[in-house]
Amino acid sequence: MTSTSAPPDPLGCLEEEAWSIAGDLLVDPGERDSPVRSGRALHRALDELLLLNRGFRENPGHPFPLESLLDLGAALLSTPLDEGDRERLRQAADDWRQELVGETVTYVVNRNLNASNLCALRCGFCAFRRSPGEEGAFVLSRAELRDRAAEARARGATELCLQAGLDPRDDGETGHLDRAISLLRDLRDAAPGLHLHGFSPQELLHIAQRDRLPLRTVLHRLREAGLGSVPGTAAEVLAPRVRRLICPEKLSARAWVAVIWEVHRSGLPSTSTLLAGHLETPLERLCHLCTLGAMQQEAWRQGRVGFTEFILLPFVGASAPAPLRARVGRDQPDPGAMLLLTAQARLLLGPWIPHHQPSWVKLTLPVAAEALRWGCDDLGGTLMEEHISTMAGAAGGTEQTPEALRAAALGLRRPVRQRTTLYGAPDALCGCS
Ligand code: SF4
Repeated sequence: MTSTSAPPDPLGCLEEEAWSIAGDLLVDPGERDSPVRSGRALHRALDELLLLNRGFRENPGHPFPLESLLDLGAALLSTPLDEGDRERLRQAADDWRQELVGETVTYVVNRNLNASNLCALRCGFCAFRRSPGEEGAFVLSRAELRDRAAEARARGATELCLQAGLDPRDDGETGHLDRAISLLRDLRDAAPGLHLHGFSPQELLHIAQRDRLPLRTVLHRLREAGLGSVPGTAAEVLAPRVRRLICPEKLSARAWVAVIWEVHRSGLPSTSTLLAGHLETPLERLCHLCTLGAMQQEAWRQGRVGFTEFILLPFVGASAPAPLRARVGRDQPDPGAMLLLTAQARLLLGPWIPHHQPSWVKLTLPVAAEALRWGCDDLGGTLMEEHISTMAGAAGGTEQTPEALRAAALGLRRPVRQRTTLYGAPDALCGCS
């Protein structure tokens, strides 16, 4: 963790408190030994980790055990692992999942709404963004968005998931926040009762900075307008070295932690993510997971929900720029490596993040179903129209039917149920679920 002395806020929209706490919560791999090494046998580390996880489940108020997790995590992430080790990890993650959340597999009926792919940034892995006037650029009209929301509701959706690029255009008389609020109100009007999950930390920061408003004010007003939760995307890997390579213009790791801390403080839950399988090291993965765990402990300390789930996002490089593709050396995720990381994340996130979700868009549904044996308990959403990963070359398709998601779980002889965004029962729809 980094020093908290005299913390200036380089973002210009945060309370000093958020920036300072983010410095405490971020586990910076640059301050740790590299690479990950462990003298422990895997089976010993797994036994110790399970004891630690159970202890924290019973006493969640204990201080976050960072040093123990870094130490035990080293044994889980050390390479090479033979087939016996892989199976040991898989079984331990599956057992811990069963102990923590039971056998039931969940999914949500939702629709993605990408209002626009215009973006002011140029992240090195992004095939979605366009500049105004560029081929493939799109901006959906408010009428189109309302129609899609209403159609989603008619098809049984309980959630709309809103993500877009960072609009680079001048706003004229309408500020970014006013436009976001007006969008939320229109969607609520077109599709009453649906949970509105939207605005990544990067988008929230963009709104606050462009409108010169405190982030706390932005969150308060979005929440008042009906925002129910926030996607924990734009985290990529919370490691400055990796961010310099793949997304140097994006908010820093510490800024991501600070923004999400403010999100949780405002009473909005968020998801959490890790974009993996590109240039990150095992130590950077481990520090990322420890940061998420520490953030959740902090959210609980404040009496907040914090993270609802962890979503592993395997890197898809098919449409990435040639230099990045060449460095990564593959266009599609390595399923074996991603399943192993699924199990490692389940164990290292212990009791802190109860629900784990694979990305069927990036892995394909059969591999996502297999991830249910490696620690996952949720299959995510139907999406109805996925664009961001698909434009990057993902092979999983753009939507799933509820029947296909149910069949994937039932094929493993696991019970399955539809959930709301916050893991409630869908018949309890009330706009806050
Ligand atoms: S990842 Fe997001 S912020 Fe980065 S270029 Fe793509 S749309 Fe813009």
